[in-house]
Amino acid sequence: MRILLTNDDGISAPGLRALVEEFRTGHEVLVVAPDTQRSAVSHACTFLSPIRLAPYAGGFPGIEEYSINGTPVDCVFLALFHLWKDNPPDIILSGVNSGANMGYDVMYSGTVAAAMEGSIHGHKAVAVSLNNRHPVHFAAAARLAHRLADKIVANPEALPAPPQTLYNLNVPDLPLQDIKGVKFTHQGLTIYNQYVVKRRDPWERDYYWLSGDQPGGHLDEGSDFAALDSGYASLTPIQVDCTNYQTLQRWRSTLSADLLDDF
Ligand code: MN
Repeated sequence: MRILLTNDDGISAPGLRALVEEFRTGHEVLVVAPDTQRSAVSHACTFLSPIRLAPYAGGFPGIEEYSINGTPVDCVFLALFHLWKDNPPDIILSGVNSGANMGYDVMYSGTVAAAMEGSIHGHKAVAVSLNNRHPVHFAAAARLAHRLADKIVANPEALPAPPQTLYNLNVPDLPLQDIKGVKFTHQGLTIYNQYVVKRRDPWERDYYWLSGDQPGGHLDEGSDFAALDSGYASLTPIQVDCTNYQTLQRWRSTLSADLLDDF
């Protein structure tokens, strides 16, 4: 396989290192990742300042790795439209993120956004995230990501997804043999407990931290949260198109044309 690896936790993060370790033999691997922690930047991209590309010295010999002073989406952009412009990847893997990307967190996630950038441009893409605030079993998640990538690339009919749809894999923080399996899920409903921490700097000016407790999720049947809660990994198809088709249909079928005439 020809594989593009990226993440949002930074090039030296243990989750990305686990993916490089997992894929480094028998595959063509390109790593492009942010030089620092870039979690929760979602689909941000850098158009108003220059991007620097630096070879990464901390990796394995023979693997092409770069860090950039940009976002996860910038990484995919540079790979697809510069580094591997003439020979695109078979698949893009983003992760392994330190922390799950389920429910509404999908909207904030740089990990998911990097995969989505691949989807937008018609590539097969997987976001892989490991549950827990300080997870440890990155190698297990990387192994599951490898099995998933094999299925997606080797036999596109086995687990098909239309263009503009990415595979969002969330893995419980357990040794591989203790993960019960994988469930197909829908994006669940996150329960946030957010708050702002107000502090004062040495010049007696106020500053703020946007913060929150570790979010929970509704355990409704078939959701990503329910799968992880019962010891399974969760695989959700996530689409770029955010249109609420049910509502659109209802508007078109039940609202009178006068409403639009009034605009
Ligand atoms: Mn992250």
